[in-house]
Amino acid sequence: MKKTLFFLGLALVLIIGSFSCATKQEPKPAAAAETNPFFTEWTAPFGTPPFPEIKEAHFIPGFTKGMDRQKKEVEAVAASAEAPNFANTVEALERTGELLTKVNNVFYALTDNNTNEELQKIEAEVAPILAKHNDDITLNDRLFRRVEAVWKEKDKPTLTPEQSRLLEKTYKAFVRNGAALDEAKKAELRKINEELSVLTVKFGENVLKEDNGFTLVLETQEDLAGLPPDVVTAAAEAAAAKGLSGKWAFTLHKPSCIPFFQYSARRDLRERLFKAFISRGDNGNEFDNKAVLAKIAGLRVKRAALLGYKTHADYVLEENMAKTPAGVYKLLDQLWGPALAMAKTEAKDLQALIDKEGDHFKLEPWDWWYYAEKLKKARYALDDEVLRPYFELKAVRQGAFDVAGRLWGLKFEPRADIPVYHPDVEVFEVQEADGRHIGILYTDYFPRPSKRGGAWSGAIREQSLKDGRKVTPVVFNVGNFTKPTAEKPSLLTFEETTTLFHELGHALHDLLSNVTYESLSGTNVPRDFVELCSQIMENWAGDPEVIKTYAKHYQTGEPIPQELVDKIKKAGLFNQGFATVEYMAACYLDLDWHTLSEPAEQDPVSFENAAMKKIGLIPEIVVRYRSPYFQHIFSGGYSAGYYSYIWSEVLDADAFQAFKETSLFDQATAGSFRENIFAKGGSEDAMALYKRFRGREPKVEPLLKRKGFLK
Ligand SMILES: [Zn+2]
Repeated sequence: MKKTLFFLGLALVLIIGSFSCATKQEPKPAAAAETNPFFTEWTAPFGTPPFPEIKEAHFIPGFTKGMDRQKKEVEAVAASAEAPNFANTVEALERTGELLTKVNNVFYALTDNNTNEELQKIEAEVAPILAKHNDDITLNDRLFRRVEAVWKEKDKPTLTPEQSRLLEKTYKAFVRNGAALDEAKKAELRKINEELSVLTVKFGENVLKEDNGFTLVLETQEDLAGLPPDVVTAAAEAAAAKGLSGKWAFTLHKPSCIPFFQYSARRDLRERLFKAFISRGDNGNEFDNKAVLAKIAGLRVKRAALLGYKTHADYVLEENMAKTPAGVYKLLDQLWGPALAMAKTEAKDLQALIDKEGDHFKLEPWDWWYYAEKLKKARYALDDEVLRPYFELKAVRQGAFDVAGRLWGLKFEPRADIPVYHPDVEVFEVQEADGRHIGILYTDYFPRPSKRGGAWSGAIREQSLKDGRKVTPVVFNVGNFTKPTAEKPSLLTFEETTTLFHELGHALHDLLSNVTYESLSGTNVPRDFVELCSQIMENWAGDPEVIKTYAKHYQTGEPIPQELVDKIKKAGLFNQGFATVEYMAACYLDLDWHTLSEPAEQDPVSFENAAMKKIGLIPEIVVRYRSPYFQHIFSGGYSAGYYSYIWSEVLDADAFQAFKETSLFDQATAGSFRENIFAKGGSEDAMALYKRFRGREPKVEPLLKRKGFLK
């Protein structure tokens, strides 16, 4: 039983960004079954996938045979005549589905990293079949009764901590899917799930329609006051695409409207666009989301109650590090006061700037971006183009590898003999200091039409122990970084640089995993814990001492000047009060919606207003997502989970503090991080692991300091 089929949504973690379109490719002729690489042993070094031999036509037969085989394996476990125990039930179930996982992991790596129309077609075709296959397992009553029998014996001290964890995760996966309910309640659950899936899709579609439903069309030069040339050019292209050549168009998509809020000197136009932006899904038209979201929230309360939870948040958080809504509120409350105080200070600074310019109006939400941008320029003029020459991609990657080398003795040896799925991909064998093999890392950093947007990390093979032998991990880091040109190598922005370090952290989590069971290995951890390993790497990327070791001018080799390092640091603190408050207000809103314990439908506007009033949000700031377009929680997978980002930030700042207290490359601290965090994956409770590393629960002070909220 593998996580990809059981613990839905964890297959590919760690995604930043959005989707891109696909390339056209001719359909490939069907390959003969006997040459299907999924049915043969992989003979490339370290058993890596033979990408050049894997054709689109191999996937459907691969999935089909994989599911058939797992069905038989699962049936054998369910029908066993032996009395159920951990080995013959839970462990046996974990070991099913090997072929399916093999096909699945390669397939989903390709659909994200290097897709085409044919792969997309297959994706749409197999998604419901895989979902049904998964349901057939979790709703298999005989199987559940056996798992339940083992669960009842869970307190017997015969299991290792990892086995206890696997038992708990397996049992809960059944229960959370409704396996413990009687037939009538199962039917009710199915009905709720169906309604929810329709409503959440509808919610997303409405937001899309609303995003596209408003355009600010500008006709005169005066309307363009303050806008930089590239913003004007983009707006002219957007207008031409709408058949409005000679005019300029701004839309509600963030890449279009945020620059307008930042640069437009026309306060009246900023207000118009901003008001349209925050009214999405709340316009009383056919795409209004208020009734939709009220129904979603109500149905989630019903489902939670059916499954035995007080609220939807209790249902979601049980699986997270935070455990309970109270745990999340406690963390948010510790951060909110200092963040709000900083935002109020920032608001005063912006008001002072408005007054100084002689305008004397009161700062409003549509003014914030504009005056913040002005203040930023005045205080820390920092130009990406001045920084780029110091961040040549290969030097940055080597810098990240060197940090891993200094901390954990890791070596990254280039391997030109390992097959790749695209010429941009480079392969490294990751080794211990003494040369022992750890795993394989592919890096794939440049944009192309066959790749989706953003940056991510994933695994083609996850670490586990099989018959006493270690299955070694095969992982990839993917990005959409600045491409090299004929004249220049790839020169990164500082943000791209930290992203590269970030994704390497996720890769290390998978690479340094040392557990028995695949579904508990590496990054198979709770969502509010998974970003610890990636975000902590960003601290080294930006550390003044470390940055000088890798950020060298690509032409002169001169290390980055101290003055620029200082500017990077200061610019990082700018507007943090606003960013934190805007984001955290959305965390509170999410949690408030999902701690309802009565299914009665709420009026979204008054509900939201009350939630914002409760935390004292200032009128100059609007919550990052108002309810009618809060897709993360009403159509994405982040309900009761939007806080995860800042929870992980608390963890990474507090964990990095352990290095600051000793030294940046302290071997004992690094060793403890590897042993207690990287190596353990999801094999034990996340808080227990963290406490073993840090000697205590995480504290918020290091994050407050890093954000400049505490001196
Ligand atoms: Zn991440």
